[in-house]
Amino acid sequence: MEIHGAGVAGMGLAVLLSSRGIPVKIIDRSTGPQHRVCGEFMRGLNSQLIDQYELSSILHEAPQHRKVAWFFEDKSLLQFDLPEAVYSVGRPSLERYLKKRCEESGVEFVFNERGIPKNEGTVIATGRRRTFDSPWFGFKIHVRNIALRSDLEMHLSPCGYVGLSTIEKGWVNVSGIFKSGSIETEGLKKGNLPIHRMQALLTRMGFARLSDRLEEAVAEPESLKSTSGIVFGFQKSKSIELAIGDAFAFIPPFSGSGMAMALQGAQIAARVIERYSRGEEAWEKVCREVRRELKNRFSKKIFFAQAFHYLMSSSQFQPSLVKIARSGLLPIKPILWGIS
Ligand SMILES: Cc1cc2nc3c(=O)[nH]c(=O)nc-3n(C[C@H](O)[C@H](O)[C@H](O)COP(=O)(O)OP(=O)(O)OC[C@H]3O[C@@H](n4cnc5c(N)ncnc54)[C@H](O)[C@@H]3O)c2cc1C
Repeated sequence: MEIHGAGVAGMGLAVLLSSRGIPVKIIDRSTGPQHRVCGEFMRGLNSQLIDQYELSSILHEAPQHRKVAWFFEDKSLLQFDLPEAVYSVGRPSLERYLKKRCEESGVEFVFNERGIPKNEGTVIATGRRRTFDSPWFGFKIHVRNIALRSDLEMHLSPCGYVGLSTIEKGWVNVSGIFKSGSIETEGLKKGNLPIHRMQALLTRMGFARLSDRLEEAVAEPESLKSTSGIVFGFQKSKSIELAIGDAFAFIPPFSGSGMAMALQGAQIAARVIERYSRGEEAWEKVCREVRRELKNRFSKKIFFAQAFHYLMSSSQFQPSLVKIARSGLLPIKPILWGIS
């Protein structure tokens, strides 16, 4: 099997296929495990996923979070306890771990190359498909020397939302997703220090107080990453194509579910691909079946997360949502937790 993309989805699938004795080659256009725009907060990581991917050896270093606080323009909006503890793991650590597991089971890696889809036997795990007409873009950085007000802080403004949580070794992940026609601003220029660029962006996107809190912070320089052209929900794909992870569907990031969904999707795909590798199923049927199973598994979750993301970020509905959250009229907490 050939897998295009060495992210969580691609390497997760490679681990499962190679453990079934199926030879796997992964092609990735980048240089390998690295920082990515991601909140690194892992919702939905149940014991079944932890066991199957043998993640406990990496999770022992990861902080577990139980409390969430939401803020609107730096004023407290909601605080609640999570029904179960959630891990935060830095992407470079997680991907290095998955790569090591792949290598131990004989997976071949080719980096710095784009995958060329073949007629059959190729899995697309190349992440979100970008589009130039989406206003949504994301940023992330790792910092130290900032005191958090909750295990997980979520900040909302008319331009988007930002999350903060502690990952391993005491680093704090600051990442956000924003919409804007233009973000031209002096402070964002490439020559400026990463922390100053993040501060400039936060100020520009309506998070001035959060930006002030980064004044004394120290950043991990190579951790500043950005991404643009973000499209939510099911991604465009060809009819005979087997796509998993974000290449199949991208759930709005406030849910913190993207990585667990990528691993769950890989489990579904591995089961069906095993039949193809034994010659029991045609590739076209495999593609259709995986797509159907992924849709059955994730459609509801993605639909509600997209609807909530829309309400939260729409200039028309955001003010009412903020009022409702403050008044306690609607059970926002269970909605937020339940759908994501
Ligand atoms: C702002 C933001 C915050 C987020 N926060 C969270 C969070 O807190 N918790 C969470 O669980 N999820 C979060 N996510 C989502 C999470 O990052 C994704 O769901 C997850 O990365 C999906 O993994 P993937 O393997 O499908 O794709 P990716 O991680 O994007 O990996 C795709 C890989 O494919 C490679 N590639 C691309 N094109 C090609 C090509 N043509 N040929 C070969 N290789 C190629 C890339 O180099 C990359 O290595 C967030 C996302 C954003 C944007």
